[in-house]
Amino acid sequence: MPDEISHLLWTYLLLKHPRIRSMKDFATRRGRIAFYFFTFLPDLGNLTLILTAAWIMTSNGLPFMPGPSAQMYPQVRAVFDGPLKNVYYIHHSYVTLAALTLIFYVVLKRVYWPLVFGMGLHITMDIFTHKDATALKPFFPLWDVKTSGVMHWGSFEFYVIEIALMVAYTVWLFRKTHQKAVPDSARPVP
Ligand SMILES: [Zn+2]
Repeated sequence: MPDEISHLLWTYLLLKHPRIRSMKDFATRRGRIAFYFFTFLPDLGNLTLILTAAWIMTSNGLPFMPGPSAQMYPQVRAVFDGPLKNVYYIHHSYVTLAALTLIFYVVLKRVYWPLVFGMGLHITMDIFTHKDATALKPFFPLWDVKTSGVMHWGSFEFYVIEIALMVAYTVWLFRKTHQKAVPDSARPVP
């Protein structure tokens, strides 16, 4: 499944967890929407890259090709491999997350969990599932180390593993919440 859908689906599943639901920030509709927003935020940076690629293609008379395949054009690659790549790194960096957490802390006088969970989850997932051209620099710009994912998010193996994990988590969660829902009086007397 596309990367963004996968991020949002995990957010949806996590919001079903009783412990997360009981947190003040996620108990409100606004907090839950904020969780989805911050889960999506790192890839909003990619929009800048996609729009730039579209502009390069149209101004060079090339047929428009959305997505990573646009990088087959040397004109696009020259920009993507250049300074513009930093936009991608900045949006997928724990340093940016820490800076935003600090700003929210100063304004709200507390840690804003939809931001920490949302962006933190996205970056952590991408570290393991993005390789080669889309590999991350999770501590950019402080530390230039580049990660290499275990497998690519678009690969068949990853789809199988991810869907299996989602099913396993859902079953586990259902059993956990269902067990809790059984009142003591309904339990067999030992
Ligand atoms: Zn991402």
